[in-house]
Amino acid sequence: MSKFWSNLAKQATPYVPGEQIDDEEILKLNTNENPYAPSSYVLEAISQELGGNLRLYPSPTVDQLREVMGEYYQLEKECIFVGNGSDEVLALSFMAFFNPGQMIRFPNITYSFYPVYAQQFQIPYEEVPIKDDFTLNPIDFYESEGGVIFPNPNAPTSLALPIEEVENIVKNNPNNVVIIDEAYVDFAKQTAVPLIKKYPNILIVQTTSKSRSLAGLRVGYALGNPNLIQALNRMKDSFNSYTMDRLAIAGAIASFQDDLTIKENVTKIINTRKWVTEALRELGFQVLPSETNFIFATHPKYLAKTLYERLKQAKILTRHFPNPLISHYLRVSIGTNQEMEQFLNQLQEIMENLS
Ligand code: PMP
Repeated sequence: MSKFWSNLAKQATPYVPGEQIDDEEILKLNTNENPYAPSSYVLEAISQELGGNLRLYPSPTVDQLREVMGEYYQLEKECIFVGNGSDEVLALSFMAFFNPGQMIRFPNITYSFYPVYAQQFQIPYEEVPIKDDFTLNPIDFYESEGGVIFPNPNAPTSLALPIEEVENIVKNNPNNVVIIDEAYVDFAKQTAVPLIKKYPNILIVQTTSKSRSLAGLRVGYALGNPNLIQALNRMKDSFNSYTMDRLAIAGAIASFQDDLTIKENVTKIINTRKWVTEALRELGFQVLPSETNFIFATHPKYLAKTLYERLKQAKILTRHFPNPLISHYLRVSIGTNQEMEQFLNQLQEIMENLS
């Protein structure tokens, strides 16, 4: 390791993102992107901005976007914080709400960025074992020493915890912040957003990367009590007062003004998820009941790693995790109907060749 690296740069084991390969021929079902284009209003708004004021700094408080989002979520703009992708919002939240010396909790099977942030910011953490069926045991998250974070629905399992249980976790951590990472919530039955008005210690983090087809624009946000949002603003202003660029702001505003396109795309993805789940079950897979835009599946006969590798040779990218607790599972993002037919045909061929 370089002698020039600081202690902070040395200590963290970095997050390993899903493969991003620039090859038009590859069918990308590995990083839960949306297969459909964003709303045409978004593209129009971005081109207008391109012809506009790029020489000027963007608004540091991003008021216009926060007002539009406020209408969408029925919250004051003081309850909304926006940032450069929810990964950045999560990093700032770790810094703002969790402390070195106070143990936080998250599930042992979850979004693998959490341990990276905790290590980077020297926050001790406990990885709470989830049950054999991959659901969380809510009581295990009660009365934490330093706070709680988990995705709902969880990634990569795709399972959602009922909102009453989320509320119980929030209620039973009165002195700490509970962060609910709702990256996939638009594909689920319920959101915890209504809890914001009831509890001062819940922070909900969402993203435009999945349901709104804007992963390339990098817009994430947090919703919560104004006190929490103020803490995030203080953190942000210590790093970069202009976290969002003008194109991202313009695109995100248009996206929140056109809910119809998003609803249509989400419905299409949920319908595809249904038939793909059935088709995989017919091929002998066990598929968890997903509330996301991906599915998590295992086959009693075929190694998930082998299936992942063979699919990759056939130019279809899925996700396989080396963690032994889930290494028998394959995670597959939901694409268009046509893409999923291609995936299933290829998978069937691979299974026949392996038998
Ligand atoms: N949270 C979870 C659970 C995720 O799976 C992802 C996507 N990898 C993110 C947050 C980050 O999303 P983004 O930075 O694109 O907003």
